[in-house]
This record gives sequence, structure tokens and C-alpha cells, in this order.
Amino acid sequence: MSNHDKDFSFETLSVHAGEKPDPITGAVAPALIRTKTFKQPQFGKEGVWQYSRGKNPTRSILEEKLAALEGGGDATVFSSGVAAEAMFFLTLNPGDHVLFCHEVYGGTFRLMEQLFKRWGIAFDFIEFKSFEHVSKYIRPTTKYFFVETPTNPSLHIVDLALVKKISEKTRISFVVDGTFAPPCSTQAFTYGAETVIHSLSKYIAGHNDVIAGAVITKNKELHEKLKFMQKTVGAILSPDECYRVIQEAKTLTLRWKRVSKSAQKIALFLSRHAKIKRVLYPGLSSHPEHRVAKRQMKNGFGAVISFETKTSSLAKLKSCVEKVTENGLIVYGESLASPETILAYPPLMSHKSLSKKDRLSLGISDSFFRFSVGFEDPDDLIRELERGLRRL
Ligand code: PLP
Repeated sequence: MSNHDKDFSFETLSVHAGEKPDPITGAVAPALIRTKTFKQPQFGKEGVWQYSRGKNPTRSILEEKLAALEGGGDATVFSSGVAAEAMFFLTLNPGDHVLFCHEVYGGTFRLMEQLFKRWGIAFDFIEFKSFEHVSKYIRPTTKYFFVETPTNPSLHIVDLALVKKISEKTRISFVVDGTFAPPCSTQAFTYGAETVIHSLSKYIAGHNDVIAGAVITKNKELHEKLKFMQKTVGAILSPDECYRVIQEAKTLTLRWKRVSKSAQKIALFLSRHAKIKRVLYPGLSSHPEHRVAKRQMKNGFGAVISFETKTSSLAKLKSCVEKVTENGLIVYGESLASPETILAYPPLMSHKSLSKKDRLSLGISDSFFRFSVGFEDPDDLIRELERGLRRL
């Protein structure tokens, strides 16, 4: 099908975009082309496909599908979400400056602080709360605004309509890390973003079996640079992984709706629990940016709930986690957005490398947990949580 056909709904595009049945065999599942090299038509003539580091048919199907799901632009897929980010930042020049929203994924922070800083890329982390506030930090060298929404792990919602206004006034393009709100929820291009970055490892693949990332951009020049760099650096996603993501993306909306419904129920349960101090879930009216989330996020608010317990006694928290995970329904581990429910403890996981002061300044206290709701029955999950929380 024509992948940018505006007449088709998101769900239809998820299944069909980028794909057509094989003209020889009629096979309906997408072609998994593992070949490294391609026979060229004749001496001195290049075919469409030459060497899979540069371009591969299975990778192209995935890239077409992702662009269709975002509602336009051109996609390039990489071997992880941070690889996608790194390749994007490699298109900058030394001396360029980027304004980030105040909370970003720890790996993004590490990438900038420990890698790109050395190569002369400057950056600041600020709240995108008004034109006046953002203007204070803009430099003549500011190349991009880079926002993540919802943020990992505190689930702040950045108001993309506001960022669009600031971007239009300042003529500075903006980039959205949409990992926590995939396009079945938020299509950042409709808010004027120039570029969208995803960790496909989360909702878009969504089965705990792939690590991958993508940059989708409306800027043709940037896209050409990314393609050139991918071929030059060799930062590709293997055809097998591309095939998986193509198939998994077909159920994105179904999965998103299901986990959002379950998470809403569990967030409500936690918010009423005597042992819980505070719950952060964009779907709760108590969430500070609930109104923005309601306007910006479609089909629910996602799988991730963050919460703080009243106690921060490590011994009690350890005992609670042991009980919660005892039956194997809830996994204690990193990451999110998978069939299996995952309980993470950022102070000892994603944010372990931060000083306590920096961690606390982000609101990640010693009693901060992140809970990613899987496909299990939410009532079973509530029972497991209740058993553990009794230990606090
Ligand atoms: N962006 C966000 C918001 C994330 O949460 C993550 C990973 O958790 C990444 C980027 C990096 O993705 P990956 O783990 O695929 O490298």
C-alpha cells in the first residue's frame, strides 16, 4: 500500500504500511532479506540494492512503516534508542547548543554529559514553561530544542503545543523523544516537531525481545546526513530485528490501549493505598500536567506508573520487592513496555550514577519506584502489589 495515504487510519497503517505481498510467491508476511550483498545488474551499473550496510529491503519496510505511523517524514532505524540519539547528535557541529527539557532519560543525559560535551556540543536542561523563560537560555548557537514526553521516570508532560509556539517565534526546530508516547498516542509532527526519536525497544516493538531505535524527520537534509552517517559508521539494525519490529508494530494500538486501561486501574489503586505517598500517572487527575496529557495523549496514558512509598527504609523496600515478585508475575528489572510487568527502582538502577543531590533535584527520592504494567490481568497485579505493600 502507499505508506503515506492519509485516508487510512493509524491501525490500518500499522498493519499494511511499507508492505505488499511478495510478487513471486504471494507471501503475506514481510520479506526477511538477510543477504549481505546483492547481485548487480551488469558491469558498471548499480542496482537499487547493493550492500546491506547501506540499504536493506527489510530495513526499508520498517522505515516506511515508521514514517507512515508518524504521519510523514523519513525514518532511519538504528541498533538502539541511544544509538539513534547519538547519530542524531553527530549531525551537529562543535560549538552547537541544544536546549533540553529539564528531565530526560538517564542514558540521554549520560550521552550528552560524558560524550558529546567532549566534542564541543553545549547544552542546558530547562523547563519549557513559557516563551519568556526559554528565551533566557537561547544562544546564537542554539540549534535545537529537544523534549521528551512523558519523561522517564517522573512522567512529566511537556506541552508540545507550547513548544511549537516557542519554536515558531524563535525559528529553532524541535525534536521529540516520543518513546513514552508512541504515535498511536502522540504524533509529534502534528505539533510542528521537525524530528521524532524513538527507542523502539519500548512500546513500538513491545515484546521484551528487541533493542532498536529510530529517527524520523521531516528535514530532508538531516535525513540524507543520517543515511550517509549510517552507511559510513555502520550503525545499522539487523534484518532479523527489523522483521520483528515490523510484525510487533502491527499490534501497537491494541497493546497501548490494553496496558493504558490496566495502568489506570492500578494507578488508582496505588493512589488510595495507605502505604503510598504519591503516584505519578498522567491519567490521574492528581497528575500536575493531567490537562495537557488529556489534550495531547490519545487512546490512554501508557503502561508506566511512578510512585513513592511512605517509607524509604531500604530493608523494608527490599522485603516488599521480594514479596511483590515472589510469584514471578512481576519482574524486578530495568526497562518498560513489555508483556511482562516490570518493577524498577531508579535510585539503584537508571539513576545510580547520579549524585544523591542531583537525583533528589529530579524528584527521584529513595522511595521512588517505576512500575510498567504488562498484559496480565490487572486484578492479579493488584493482588501481588497488595501482598508486598503490606510489608511496608
Ligand atoms: N529514550 C527514552 C525516553 C528511554 O526511556 C530510553 C530507554 O529506556 C531510550 C531513549 C534509549 O533506548 P534504548 O534502550 O533502546 O537504547
